[in-house]
Amino acid sequence: MPIIGLNKTYKTYRANRIYKTYRIIKEMTKKERYARFMAYFQVAMPEANTELHYNNPFQLLCAVMLSAQCTDKRVNMVTPALFEAFPTPEVMAKATKEEVLHYVKSVSYPNSKAEHLVGMAKLLMERHGGEVPNDFDALVALPGVGRKTANVMLSVAFDKARMAVDTHVFRVSHRIGLVSDKCTTPYSVEKELVKNIPEELIPRAHHWLILHGRYVCKSQRPQCKDCGIKDFCKEGMKH
Ligand code: SF4
Repeated sequence: MPIIGLNKTYKTYRANRIYKTYRIIKEMTKKERYARFMAYFQVAMPEANTELHYNNPFQLLCAVMLSAQCTDKRVNMVTPALFEAFPTPEVMAKATKEEVLHYVKSVSYPNSKAEHLVGMAKLLMERHGGEVPNDFDALVALPGVGRKTANVMLSVAFDKARMAVDTHVFRVSHRIGLVSDKCTTPYSVEKELVKNIPEELIPRAHHWLILHGRYVCKSQRPQCKDCGIKDFCKEGMKH
């Protein structure tokens, strides 16, 4: 009997504690949530950066284009040989799609990506003297370069305050509660994050969200029990 009584008391105590924590997290203001998010990651991941391998903006652009709906790990497996065969936009611009395809056939959508790489290199030669432009409009004018890729380039290669929203950034920022449920498109998430994160932290915050999504807050099985931000995460409080 005393043991049953104790168990009941403990269960009530625990339920009350969970409810209290739930309320605290739920009622946390957006400002507080952002502050906790930035404070945590500045300590936990001070040097966050891309996991793609590259040595210059042209190589980064090729790698980012190849990484659409493909893992960075897979892209890093194909790029050493690709960069050796086509070290500059000038060389790649003279290649055929089939020649490039030979090096990228193991990534997703190899045909269209090979075609875009050659088209991108040609346009770099025609319009930008073989240099990757440091400008959003010029970047999205390149074949195969959309808003997300352009923002990655501006952030990683040129250290600009741009937030690229990929599947990880989209999912994790919703789960934590950094953006509201009304943000249903990558662009609306981008605007919300940019509005609330100080300019100097935006390039790093982009990688914080990506890396956290890739290794902890996974799409299918988020590892909430071991997650360092569960005490202020909206989704984590349910687990
Ligand atoms: S607590 Fe869970 S849902 Fe929240 S960020 Fe961590 S892993 Fe993701």
